[in-house]
Amino acid sequence: MAPSAKKQPVYAKHVPQRTCIACHKADAKRGLVRLVLTPEGRVAIDSKGKMPGRGAYLCPQKRCWEEGLKTNKLEYALRTRLSPDSLKDLLEHMSTFGDPRTEVEG
Ligand SMILES: [Zn+2]
Repeated sequence: MAPSAKKQPVYAKHVPQRTCIACHKADAKRGLVRLVLTPEGRVAIDSKGKMPGRGAYLCPQKRCWEEGLKTNKLEYALRTRLSPDSLKDLLEHMSTFGDPRTEVEG
């Protein structure tokens, strides 16, 4: 019994909170899309959330991606420069979101 131990709520499990780098909405339940800086210096979409490396999160919606990509927020978050190749991939992925009503399940 450490005298300095603080009382913690019972539900205080360590849930990793993800925050969209564009709109700063934190969301642990519904998946944000993880982007990861690979050792090759490429920015890849980490659909399974298991790739090693520095990561950043974006909501699965066009708006956030546009903001993340066009205002260099993603580059800032990953502390890198987006190569034209990476940017092309990301823009391609962004185009799959379609309209905001589309919800991905699972
Ligand atoms: Zn967002």
